[in-house]
Amino acid sequence: MMPKSFDQTMTFASMVAKKQGWALNPDAEFTKDLVEGLATNWNRYGYFLCPCRDTDGSREADAKVICPCAPSWKDIEERGHCFCALYLDPAFASAGKTPASIPDRRSQF
Ligand code: SF4
Repeated sequence: MMPKSFDQTMTFASMVAKKQGWALNPDAEFTKDLVEGLATNWNRYGYFLCPCRDTDGSREADAKVICPCAPSWKDIEERGHCFCALYLDPAFASAGKTPASIPDRRSQF
């Protein structure tokens, strides 16, 4: 498994956002920290475990929290952003709203 650099991981996050019609969090420092977390998780576990969650021990157990995680679509639709607030609903982002803390709904998916 090839390690991923920060730039490769940023490209991944940007492609996810583009494909899903989401916006990356415009707070550049915040987004940088999350992307660094994703790269660290890739290099540690071999997959993009959510940077805001702990592993349950295997890729199979973590399947619902590999980025973009299973709850992210509904969280973005209903709350304006994913659990980590890496991805935002574009309308939420352009309104200049600030992401709030939201519950981790991984067990519901
Ligand atoms: S909450 Fe989901 S979509 Fe957001 S960074 Fe974590 S895994 Fe990715």
